[in-house]
Amino acid sequence: MTQIAITRTATPKQTPADETLAFGKVFSDHMFLMNYEDGKGWHNPRIEPYAPFTLDPATCVLHYGQAIFDGLKAFRGPDGQVRLFRVGDHARRLNKSAHYLCIPEMDPAMVEESIRALVEVDRRWVPSLPGTSLYIRPTVIATETFLGVHPSHSYLYYVIVGPVGAYYKEGMNPVSILASDQYVRAVKGGLGAAKTAGNYAASLYGAEEAQKAGYTQVLWLDGVEHKYLDEVGTMNIMLKIGDEVITPPLNGAILAGITRDSVLTLLRDWGLRVSERPISIDDVLAAAKAGTLEMWGTGTAAVISPVGELGYKGERYVINGGKTGALTQKLYDTIVGIQYGTAPDPHGWARLLGNRLGG
Ligand SMILES: *Cc1c(COP(=O)(O)O)cnc(C)c1O
Repeated sequence: MTQIAITRTATPKQTPADETLAFGKVFSDHMFLMNYEDGKGWHNPRIEPYAPFTLDPATCVLHYGQAIFDGLKAFRGPDGQVRLFRVGDHARRLNKSAHYLCIPEMDPAMVEESIRALVEVDRRWVPSLPGTSLYIRPTVIATETFLGVHPSHSYLYYVIVGPVGAYYKEGMNPVSILASDQYVRAVKGGLGAAKTAGNYAASLYGAEEAQKAGYTQVLWLDGVEHKYLDEVGTMNIMLKIGDEVITPPLNGAILAGITRDSVLTLLRDWGLRVSERPISIDDVLAAAKAGTLEMWGTGTAAVISPVGELGYKGERYVINGGKTGALTQKLYDTIVGIQYGTAPDPHGWARLLGNRLGG
């Protein structure tokens, strides 16, 4: 693997107090960069001081959205150690997203190494207050200068990181979600399985409408029949009806969430009945009315987000008495325990950072 050249900043910033941290507002001192050009491949991996880019106004990503990203976290445990959570899986997923967007193959080992190296250089930016973490955003953009629709011949891969606050400052609180019978996020045959910019652009209008109606998130239904659950906001959706845990299958319209996989793995470890199968909104409403439903979203930002209320066609349905369910809470506690190194990690999900650089 090519050596990563490291240029350290001459003007390190002050890190914010852990108590003041929000999400996605503060970035560290450095970033990782690597370029691609046809004929040369991926080259020049380097860590440099965090700084703005200069892009020609005709840079194709700005017009045609050939862009992908991923999102993962590093955690500082009470033992002072820093752990990257499932970094290899996130690196492999970035490469899958690249494939869907006609972006050249990215070696997952190189992606993992870029993340590890950057977090080591900016290790002092990993906060330590319980619930806080360092959010890591690997991104690829198409950089060729042209107007016209075809895959770019050059790309920039970069990674930025920043400390983020606890998602739940006062314990888990269930969210209210609106099942949309009008707007869709992605359809089978489209780009739903890629973490690509356009999917988030496609979600904005529906999300605004849901917020105007008093809901936190949209429950996206499938793009063909508007009948089967796809995802919730930018999370995967799961529910428990009686003794069966159900989540939509990876059918090309939804993202293969790493948290989704962590949860399914834990549930199977615990001997629960788990089904990856289509689940209709009618079945969900029936279970909500019968009082046999527990429902939650999964994603890196929140880990687990309990759903306390569901809106559909002008009606509001309370789920599990509007409270966090017992299984929802147990999943959250278990995953968070692994992330901070306070619980056993039987699947080897946490990767310890070396102690070379202190901080
Ligand atoms: C990132 C994301 C998820 C969650 O994936 P994780 O790997 O668990 O963070 C789910 N759905 C969408 C649309 C996403 O962008």
